[in-house]
Amino acid sequence: MSANCIFCKIVKGDIPAKIVHQDEDCIVFQDINPSAPVHLLMIPRHHVVSMQEVGAEDHGWLGRMMAKVPAIALENGCNPGPNGGFRIVTNSGHDGGQEVHHLHFHILGGKRPWKGSMAAIA
Ligand code: AMP
Ligand code: ZN
Repeated sequence: MSANCIFCKIVKGDIPAKIVHQDEDCIVFQDINPSAPVHLLMIPRHHVVSMQEVGAEDHGWLGRMMAKVPAIALENGCNPGPNGGFRIVTNSGHDGGQEVHHLHFHILGGKRPWKGSMAAIA
């Protein structure tokens, strides 16, 4: 845990979030400023700054998290099949555009067009 980290505070329950999934590895909640009809944030329970900190020793929890994305996306409104789908975005570090320094995966989906900052197709 990191004392001044807003996402650690969500893990601890010190600040509210619309949590849609939680397990031993991660929690998933709705982004407060959605860029798409479905915009979730998946975070590890423990404080990891970004993907810049991740190495081979992290394959367990990180692999389990990624493997849960498709089911969580479908359960929360992403559309099934090749005409549906979702986008996973992870901003890492200053050059990567990261604003909250606790690793998080944006899970975005729902019918296009999207209007937010992560709406670009390219
Ligand atoms: P990033 O630029 O990748 O670090 O994205 C940070 C994301 O966290 C943004 O999409 C914000 O809207 C979102 N966010 C910041 N604070 C909260 C919060 N308290 N609850 C939910 N989402 C948040
Ligand atoms: Zn944290």
